[in-house]
Amino acid sequence: MRERGFVIDSFSFPSLLKAAARVSALSEGMEVHGFGIKMGFVSDPFVQTGLVAMYAGCGCIEDARLVFDKMSERDIVAWNIMIDGYCGSGRYDIVLPLIEEMQRSHAKTDSKIFSTVLSACGRAKNLEFGKAFHKFIAKNNVLIDYNMQCALVVMYAGCGSMDMANSLFKNLSPKDLAVSTAIITGYSNAGQIDAARLIFDEMTEKDLVCWSAMISGYAEGSQPQKAICLFDEMLNSGIKPDQITMLSVISACANLGALDNAIKIHSYIDENGFSGILPVNNALIDMYAKCGELDRAKRVFSRMHRRNVITWSSMIGAYAVYGDAINALNLFHQMKAQKIEPNDVTFVGLLYACSHAGLVEEGQKLFALMVNEYNIIPKRKHYGCMVDLYGRANLLKKALEVIEEMPMSPNVVIWGSLMAACRIYNEVELGEYAAKRVLELDPYHDGAHIFLSNIYAKEKRWENVGKMRKTMQEKGVIKQRGCSKIELDGEIHEFLTADKTHVQVDEIYSKLDEVVSDLEVAGYVPNMCSVLVDLDDEEKTKALLWHSEKLALSYGLLRRRNGSCIRIIKNLRVCEDCHNFMKIASKVYEVDILVRDRTRFHHYKDGVCSCKDYW
Ligand code: ZN
Ligand code: ZN
Repeated sequence: MRERGFVIDSFSFPSLLKAAARVSALSEGMEVHGFGIKMGFVSDPFVQTGLVAMYAGCGCIEDARLVFDKMSERDIVAWNIMIDGYCGSGRYDIVLPLIEEMQRSHAKTDSKIFSTVLSACGRAKNLEFGKAFHKFIAKNNVLIDYNMQCALVVMYAGCGSMDMANSLFKNLSPKDLAVSTAIITGYSNAGQIDAARLIFDEMTEKDLVCWSAMISGYAEGSQPQKAICLFDEMLNSGIKPDQITMLSVISACANLGALDNAIKIHSYIDENGFSGILPVNNALIDMYAKCGELDRAKRVFSRMHRRNVITWSSMIGAYAVYGDAINALNLFHQMKAQKIEPNDVTFVGLLYACSHAGLVEEGQKLFALMVNEYNIIPKRKHYGCMVDLYGRANLLKKALEVIEEMPMSPNVVIWGSLMAACRIYNEVELGEYAAKRVLELDPYHDGAHIFLSNIYAKEKRWENVGKMRKTMQEKGVIKQRGCSKIELDGEIHEFLTADKTHVQVDEIYSKLDEVVSDLEVAGYVPNMCSVLVDLDDEEKTKALLWHSEKLALSYGLLRRRNGSCIRIIKNLRVCEDCHNFMKIASKVYEVDILVRDRTRFHHYKDGVCSCKDYW
């Protein structure tokens, strides 16, 4: 324009600055600023407001303030930009004084700025400032109209202060759809899923965002079944899901580990045009991996036209939990060949695969590669994998060295994994040390209590056994109850340890008796090491034989149709006795048994397990 001889006037500047602000183009914005100075436009209030917006939009709040302070006439727009900018950069300490200054100035405050601040504050989850700001509004006799009430509810819900949010929400009339959704999300995030459902059920009108919020609350919480039910309800009510809903439902299927449901959702995805979406496909890989369907995960992976680092990492992670280190490593080499840069998650999968397959040297190499070649700073998870790698390989001193040399403090998982390794290799002294560190971090850790009392009993340190038992009683340590789920014909059955609540309870327990005697003929002997010492022998046997996965297996065998694989999802790590039990059962009954425990899969077939007894 200038080259063609046109004269640029001050009206061109606000548009230029707005464009720069929108794409955070700081250097171009500064060029425009310099040009404006040369042309003598910077005393124009519109240009000044544009400059404030440009600097604030580029995250240079101090530079915005310099321009703002020089303005002779500040209109409400400039004030709003400035206040919004301080919220955006987290400088809440400056927001209140600035609003007070604004109130003293000619520019009258409007309720819009208060709503803006409230919503910024909710997004930032800054409850302390939110409360102070609420007080400020009340003290200054600002009119709290309907919009402001809504903004207050959303702010408290965003900050997780659900009591405040709900008490304001109760008085809100009519109940705004977006505000109700914010309450549902707030309750879900706080783990109060039933409270969220109450609000959800009271709503007369629901849109997709609202359904999605409720579904995601169930999916991420402890009730993934309900997420899937609700999804069906939503479809029946005629609402079409979007990508966000689908990701929640896929994650629900993954958490549930239920294959029939997973396959159903996958075909819905294929039939409704979601199958080309990268994040959806990535989630599908993860879902099948968690359902123990490595082949289906591979099929999704191979059909994808576009793959990113998450795709590759998910597939590597799938091989890792399945104990297939060779393929995990192969995939890593392919990934490198295709010039995809691995990230920290990729290496967690790789190190995990190595530790579960006993590949010590390979694991060490990968750790060094991650640090030296990819400049990834190891996180606690990576150190945890290394402790596990050495621990499982009976290199307990090396495992301890990793713990002692890691830059952050080891957590209970890391000490727990050293303790578990010591238990396997009967390393009493170091094991006792590790168990005590576990108890320092988690005084209620049942595994550490049981481990220590077993050590003391084995060494006949009866005084210590008594002390241990006493502290356990005093603290009320209860072994976290095992829970196993089994899916039959699309329906999920749940069993707790020694559960007697199932409708077919009698049949299940007599089936279990039958299974135990069949297996004993084939050489099964109950292993008492994984039970508390202070039970008598009969109680011990019961405590062991009634482990939830044995109940689930019995039920599976009871209802099994020929040829089908039995799939069990367990909340805790599978114990040695159950592991042996499943192996023998797979041979005696000629059945494939797939157990997902807290950390990995065990595929029992013909008397052996895919983990090669190394878990
Ligand atoms: Zn068990
Ligand atoms: Zn196994």
